[in-house]
Amino acid sequence: MAKKPRFSFLRGLRFRLTLANGIFLVGLLVFLGFFFRGVLSLILDNQIQDILNEEWYAVKGYLIIHRGEADWRYDSEDREEEFIVKRMQRVFFLADAKGKKIAASDIFEDLGIPPEKEVVAALGSKQPYWLEKRSSSGELYRIRGGLFVDDDNKSYFVAIGRPNSANEAILDEFSRDYQRLLPVFILSGCLLGWLVAGRAIRPVHELARTAELVSGDNLSLRIPPRRSGDELDNLIHTFNSMVERLEQSFRMTRQFNADVSHELRTPLTAIRGQLEVALFTATTKEQYREAMINALEDVERLSQTVRAMLLLSQAESGQLALTRSVFDLADVVRDLVGEFQIPAEEARVEMLCEADGVTGIEADRIQIERMVNNLLSNAVKYTRSGGKVVARVSAQEEQVLLEVEDTGVGIPADHLPHIFDRFYRVPGASKEQQGLGLGLSFVAWIVKAHGGSIHVDSMPGKGTRFAITLPAAQKTGGGERLAMQGADMQGAPPPAASQAPR
Ligand code: ADP
Repeated sequence: MAKKPRFSFLRGLRFRLTLANGIFLVGLLVFLGFFFRGVLSLILDNQIQDILNEEWYAVKGYLIIHRGEADWRYDSEDREEEFIVKRMQRVFFLADAKGKKIAASDIFEDLGIPPEKEVVAALGSKQPYWLEKRSSSGELYRIRGGLFVDDDNKSYFVAIGRPNSANEAILDEFSRDYQRLLPVFILSGCLLGWLVAGRAIRPVHELARTAELVSGDNLSLRIPPRRSGDELDNLIHTFNSMVERLEQSFRMTRQFNADVSHELRTPLTAIRGQLEVALFTATTKEQYREAMINALEDVERLSQTVRAMLLLSQAESGQLALTRSVFDLADVVRDLVGEFQIPAEEARVEMLCEADGVTGIEADRIQIERMVNNLLSNAVKYTRSGGKVVARVSAQEEQVLLEVEDTGVGIPADHLPHIFDRFYRVPGASKEQQGLGLGLSFVAWIVKAHGGSIHVDSMPGKGTRFAITLPAAQKTGGGERLAMQGADMQGAPPPAASQAPR
């Protein structure tokens, strides 16, 4: 077995699927982290903005500007009120309508007094003035300012602020926790991906293992279908049907080899026997001549068998392409019945042809002639003198029916299932009757290749009837027939042989 290269798993499907999943997961989690941090920051920002807004409007209730100075009015006994006002005063700025500072808390001074121009612009804009500033110690403050009109109807600019540090801390904590959890999420995601990928490609491994085990002697192996209907099931199905086809083709090859060796051995032994007898025992010219004639007859039979076997194996393995054309089956049958008249008369067998309806078919004429020829030759061969053979062609729905009926010896029921097998001959035939046992195998292949079916009825001593249906030729709109060349036999249904006695 070839040595596996180091780190070969890096090229494996499972690793690559997991890696792709991991990369996607990292991207997704980083994006989600930024997204949620953004959403959280927006929520916190809105919160502080709402509080500052409320507080800014509340300033009006406590602040009185008297002779250009800020005066805070509140009930010093009320602790809550005192707390509220003190908080307003912590980050507080007051300026007149020209932007000139009237009062500012220490923190505001530290944050930086807004330039007069900026204050004037803020007063003119009617919109609330919002600002974010950092103190010298680095703390971030949110400022809310706006127009303040006192009881004497004079305009001022008032701004208050609040530290944003609590929100910043929340956001920092979120980032820290998320960064800590990120590797855990990614690792568990990758682990899950690794397990799922492993599970998903397990059938592929099974397929590879089974494929390794498949050999000429072990073609019965199949991978059990998972019935999940996915692509892998499809692959398993394709693999199983491929092995099935291989098995069938191996079986046919083995059968062919067995048939060939059996069929060739018998005449070869006979030829050898005749030649040996001639060599060791013949003394006269006549005896040599007779031995030669016998040997030549066997050689002729042998070459006939070889030719027929090769043709049949070519046909069955799909190497014999059909050359289709449209013709009338009744014409073919009529011609062949005519050709059989002389041998039939010699055997004192009456031969008739009956045709009825439109019996055009789209088929390989040579093969169809071979099929009819085999059926007629069998019918004449297995019918005693005084008997009758009728070949009938008739039109059925979308099909053409060919019947070859004889009043011959018939076929016993237990032999009927085998008559289409290669080299099968019903025992008891006379030497003249004995053929190669390949004629009906050809018939079966020809019918199958044309998408037709066969039905056989037989009764020993009474006769046999072969009924073959073939698809009728399609007619075009104008009533003309289609002519087509070179269709192959793939996908044609197998011939149906019924052995019901008549
Ligand atoms: P063969 O060359 O021996 O005729 P076939 O394949 O054509 O081989 O036929 C197989 C066997 O089926 C024959 O050996 C014969 O016993 C039987 N058979 C075929 N056709 C008929 C028939 N019309 N009547 C009786 N037996 C038949």
